[in-house]
Amino acid sequence: MNMFDRVYINGQIIKPIGTEELELINPATKQVTGKVVLGNVEDTRLAIAAAKSAFKTFSKTTVQERADMLLRLHRSLMNRLDRLTEATVEEYGAPVSVARMLTRIAADAFVHTKENLESFSFSRTAGKARVRMEPIGVVGAITPWNANATHLANKIAPALAAGCTLVVKPSELSAKQTQIFMEAIHEAALPAGVVNIVNGKGEVVGEELTRHPDVFVMAFTGSTEIGKRIAAGAAAHLKRVTLELGGKSPTVILDDADLTKAVPLAVSAGFINSGQACLAGTRIIVPESRLEEVKRLMASVIDDIKVGDLWNEATLIGPMVNQKQYDRVQHYIRQAIEDGAELIAGGQGSPEGFDAGYFVKPTVFANVTNDMTIAQEEVFGPVLSIITYRTEDEAIEIANDTPYGLQAFVFSGSTERGNRVAEQIVAGRISVNGLHDEPNAPFGGFKQSGIGREHGTYGIEEYLEPKAILGHDAVLA
Ligand code: NAD
Repeated sequence: MNMFDRVYINGQIIKPIGTEELELINPATKQVTGKVVLGNVEDTRLAIAAAKSAFKTFSKTTVQERADMLLRLHRSLMNRLDRLTEATVEEYGAPVSVARMLTRIAADAFVHTKENLESFSFSRTAGKARVRMEPIGVVGAITPWNANATHLANKIAPALAAGCTLVVKPSELSAKQTQIFMEAIHEAALPAGVVNIVNGKGEVVGEELTRHPDVFVMAFTGSTEIGKRIAAGAAAHLKRVTLELGGKSPTVILDDADLTKAVPLAVSAGFINSGQACLAGTRIIVPESRLEEVKRLMASVIDDIKVGDLWNEATLIGPMVNQKQYDRVQHYIRQAIEDGAELIAGGQGSPEGFDAGYFVKPTVFANVTNDMTIAQEEVFGPVLSIITYRTEDEAIEIANDTPYGLQAFVFSGSTERGNRVAEQIVAGRISVNGLHDEPNAPFGGFKQSGIGREHGTYGIEEYLEPKAILGHDAVLA
């Protein structure tokens, strides 16, 4: 039994004052693999005090000093990539190829941020004024369980680049990954108090960060529901917030697309990270005239998908993270059937031979209308809905008829047409004719998918406040 009973405060890996324990369960086996001891409000306050004190000098460090720290963080994470990958498989249930990709993205985030930092313009002019971009202060960062290391990196790297200090509350379900991350940060020898990490519950550690007057920015990734709660709490002190929230992303397949290429890509976009991904393309919007072809291809692609053995490189879909998430996915599948959607693959229950873990069947529904619950609410599992349209305008209208606006995918035989449609979709990121990634491009949502952006210079900007100095060259006459 592994025991994770450490927090990271003021440069020291120490036992928390909090004593509450939470069991960690391997989602592929439902076996208890360890326990995490949760930090409490006192731990959080100590961490905030350490970050506040460290801010005084860290905010004055040079770009070169911070760039060196980011590089050291990259290297110390690279030294632990295999352990971090293993922990992600065991603790979260990611297939090994996905876990490896997630941890590599996390390590690389520090190098990309370093490069952006080195060319970042902290001193600007606006007319006759000089504008200094200044670090805002202590950051409270809160992350979910679905890509723990990646989310930690996407908050820690830009905040450090800006000259901010942090108190991080990772998901309480990711204690082993967090422990490895903590060791990596310690090895990188940042000044004490610059990064502090407190495991704990959202309603304890998370709420204290939101409430505390010495925290000036709340950087959150998680559900829209909790994001709204954090924004409301942060308003009491007018804290800045960056919120990376939920999604119900559309995948628009235009009528000129080669379906043999577009359908497998649409399935991959929908099943990213076992469907436990905020950006998953879960609404597949297809021309009515080609519906039968899409259904046939979709069923055959799903048939070939490997679910199960997480250590097999070919496995695409692992279990849901816990019982709650398993039940949530089953609930949505049941509801879609009751609402009259046509099941063309998967369905309720676990795939044969996989009921020892929280595995669900990769599921696809046709005959879905965009007003159904399955098309409007985030399932956060491998469940896709096929929705038909008659005209291009109608396809765009359906794509935009959602409270979310995080990501979209467009497939077309014509790149120009794909781009034209992409420009009309209301989402923070749109991928045309492929599953593209660009670490320097902004990531974040329109509408209820969030506020603010991560990645690239956009991510660094979120932790800075402009200060205008007028008359900077004036002589008192
Ligand atoms: P969640 O909102 O339940 O929890 C996220 C984090 O918030 C956890 O660390 C949790 O402990 C903490 N938290 C819970 N209650 C809190 C409170 N009252 N105050 C402060 N913190 C609190 O989300 P989850 O179930 O961990 O993750 C799934 C959700 O995250 C999905 O909705 C998904 O779309 C979203 N997500 C978004 C992105 C993105 O970048 N936009 C990425 C991944 C996941």
